[in-house]
Amino acid sequence: MTRDIYETPVQYIKGIGPRRAKLLQRLGIKTLLDALYYLPFRYEDRCVIRKIAEVAHEGIQTVEGEILSSGIRSTSRFKIFELLINDGSGLLTGKWFNQPYMEKLFRKGDRVLLSGIVRMDNYRGGGYEMHNPDFEVLGKGIDKNKIHTSRIVPFYRTTAGLGTRTLRSIMFSIIGFASEKIDDFLPEYILKRYNLPSLGEALRNVHFPEEDAGLEEINRGTSRYHQRLAFDELLLLQTGLAVLKRGRKNERGISFKSGRNLMKGLLERLTFELTGAQKRVVNEIVRDMEAPLPMNRLIQGDVGSGKTVVALLAMVHAVESGYQAALMAPTEILAEQHHINISRMVKGLNIRTALITGGVRERLDDEIARGEVDVIVGTHALIQEEVGFHKLGLVIIDEQHRFGVMQRAMLRKKGSFNIPDVLVMTATPIPRTLSLTLYGDLDCSVIDELPPGRRPVVTKLFNEGTKGRLYGFIRSEVKKGRQAYIVYPAIEESEKTNLKSAIPAREGLEKIFPDLNIGLIHGRMKPQEREDVMGAFKDGKLDILVSTTVVEVGVDVPNAAIMLVVHAERFGLAQLHQLRGRVGRGAHQSYCFLLYYGRLSEEADRRLQVMIKYSDGFRIAEEDFSIRGPGEFFGTRQAGIPDFKVANLIRDSRILDAARKEAFNIIGNDPSLSSFPQLRGMVKRFWQGKVEIFRTG
Ligand code: ADP
Ligand code: MG
Repeated sequence: MTRDIYETPVQYIKGIGPRRAKLLQRLGIKTLLDALYYLPFRYEDRCVIRKIAEVAHEGIQTVEGEILSSGIRSTSRFKIFELLINDGSGLLTGKWFNQPYMEKLFRKGDRVLLSGIVRMDNYRGGGYEMHNPDFEVLGKGIDKNKIHTSRIVPFYRTTAGLGTRTLRSIMFSIIGFASEKIDDFLPEYILKRYNLPSLGEALRNVHFPEEDAGLEEINRGTSRYHQRLAFDELLLLQTGLAVLKRGRKNERGISFKSGRNLMKGLLERLTFELTGAQKRVVNEIVRDMEAPLPMNRLIQGDVGSGKTVVALLAMVHAVESGYQAALMAPTEILAEQHHINISRMVKGLNIRTALITGGVRERLDDEIARGEVDVIVGTHALIQEEVGFHKLGLVIIDEQHRFGVMQRAMLRKKGSFNIPDVLVMTATPIPRTLSLTLYGDLDCSVIDELPPGRRPVVTKLFNEGTKGRLYGFIRSEVKKGRQAYIVYPAIEESEKTNLKSAIPAREGLEKIFPDLNIGLIHGRMKPQEREDVMGAFKDGKLDILVSTTVVEVGVDVPNAAIMLVVHAERFGLAQLHQLRGRVGRGAHQSYCFLLYYGRLSEEADRRLQVMIKYSDGFRIAEEDFSIRGPGEFFGTRQAGIPDFKVANLIRDSRILDAARKEAFNIIGNDPSLSSFPQLRGMVKRFWQGKVEIFRTG
C-alpha cells in the first residue's frame, strides 16, 4: 500500500458523506491519519451487561432494556424525569433530577443502556431504580457489530450534531478500513527489542480494545497499545531532532579566534573565582566557538549558579574575534537588567554595548548595522524584527521555554556571512523530559554547582493572621543592616482580582515602617526611573523594595536577605523559585516568607509545600511539571513543538528515553533514513509545517 493512504480524506470512507465529513472536520479530522489518531478520552467496560434483577446494590453496573414509558414527575423540591425500562428480568426506573430536557432524548420502544447503581425504591412499593445514570440510546435495531455493547466501549469527544454513537460507529468503520491496510513504519528490530505490538494492532486496540485489555490501563493510557503509539510519537520527534543536529555537522559556522585578552580582563575584574562547574562550561563553550561548526548549546543551571558571567565570557570572546554578540531576553525589563549588569562588568574593557527597546531603536539600528556596537541586548523581538547586524557571530537566548526548535531556526538567517553560534540559557531549570523535547537538538551543559558560601534560604509560610510577626522580623533584620524585597502580584488594586498590590501597599508600609526607607519599582515605570530605584537599592539607600515580579530574574543585591512574597498562592513554582533566588546571594542568612490569603486550594498548597521542602531548582521543576501537567507548563504550540496526541512527558519518560536512544542510533547509522523509507515519510509528516527536516524528496 502506498504511504499516502494516510492522506485519504475521510469522506471517501464508506458511511461518511459530505455532511459527516464536515462535522468531523470540526473535530480536526480531515484525513485518515487524523481519524486514526483521534483517540477516545475514556473507555467503559460493557463486556458484561447484567440483568436488572441480579445486580441490586452491587456497585456501578450496566443494564440494557427496552423503554416502556417515560415522563416528568414533580415533587415539592424536584422535577424528576423518569424512564421505565424492561430487560426481561425486571423493571427499572432511571431517574434524573431537575433535568427536564432529558425527556426529548428517549422514545418508547427504543433500546437503551443505563450505567449506575441499581437500588431498591423503598418508598413507592418497591421496584428497581437508578439515579442520574449514564445512558446510551441504542435505538431500535440490534447492535450486530457489537460496537456499543458487549465490549470495552470507547468514548470520543463529540461536537454538536454528531452524537457519541454516531461518532463511535464512524470510528469503527475507519479502523476496520485502515488497520489492515497500513504498514508498520517501525523497524522490525525495534518492535522486537521493546516487545511492541504492530501499528495496526495498536490502533485497533486503542479504539476498540479487546475484551482482555485491562480497563484501568487503557483509561490511564498505559496499555501496551497506547505505549506503542506514544513510542511512535516520541520517536518521530526525536528522529527529527537527531536529523537537525546531525545536519549541522555539514554547516559552515564561525571559528572564533582571539587572544582571549578580553576574557582574561573580565576574569581579573571579577571579585570571585569561577566555580569548577562554570570553568567546565566555559571550556565547553569556547571549544564549540573555536570549532568551525556552528555552536548550538543549552546551558542549564539553577538560579544563582552564575550563568550571566559564563554568557558574558562567551560574548567577549566573540567580540575580540571580531564579531557582534546579541543577548535576547524574554521581557524588556529583563533586557534592561542584563544590560545594566553587563555594562558594569565590562567597564574599562572598551566594549560598546547597546540596549534595544522600543523607544531608542532608530538611532541604534544604524550603529548596529555599521558595527559600532559590539554587544546588543534586547528582547526576543530582536530576531523577529528587522534589526540588521553588521557581523553577528553569537546569539545568546535567555529564555523562558518560549524558544523552541522553530524559533531558533529563524536565527540562522540573521548571521551575515556565516551561521551564528547559538547559546540558550534557561532562567530556571526545566524538567528533563521537557528539555529533551524542546532542546533535544542541542548540546547541553549543566552548571551543577553553586558559588561557595551560599547558605540555604530559610523558607516559611505565613497567613494573613500572622503577618504582624513578619513585620517585626523584617524590622529587626533591617536594623542589623539587611535589606528586604516585598513582592506583590499586581501594581494597582483592581476590583476584579481584589489582590493586594504594590502601589497602595507601599503607602501602608510607610505607616508601618515610618523610620525606614522604602522604594517602589514596577513594570509601568519609565526605564530610567526603574534604573534609579534599582540603583538606590543596590547602594543600600533603600531598606525595603516594594515591587512586582519585575525583580524576578536578573536582579542581584547580595545584601538583601529577605524576600517576602505577598499572595504567594498566586505565583507559579518557577516564579517563586526565581524570587527566592534574589536572596541568599551574600554572606548573611536569608529568608523567604510566603504570605498567603484566604484558604489555600489543594494545588496552591502543594506548590507552597514544594517550596518549603526543596531548594534544588531541578527538583522543583520536576515537581512543578507533575503538579501542572505538560499542557499547562507551557503552550507547546508556542514553543514550536508538535502537539502530542498520545505521549505524555510526565507519564512516558521512560518511553522517551528509549525513543531518543533509538532515534539517534538510527540517524547515526543512516542519516537520510534511506533504508527506512516509511519511517522517513512519517518523520517528514510529523514535522510538516514546523521545521524542514529533510531538504529533498
Ligand atoms: P543566574 O545563574 O541565576 O543567572 P547570576 O549569573 O545572576 O546567576 O549570578 C548570581 C550571583 O552570583 C551574582 O551576584 C554573581 O556575581 C555571583 N557569582 C557568579 N559566579 C560566582 C562565583 N563563581 N563565585 C561567587 N559568586 C559568583
Ligand atoms: Mg541571570
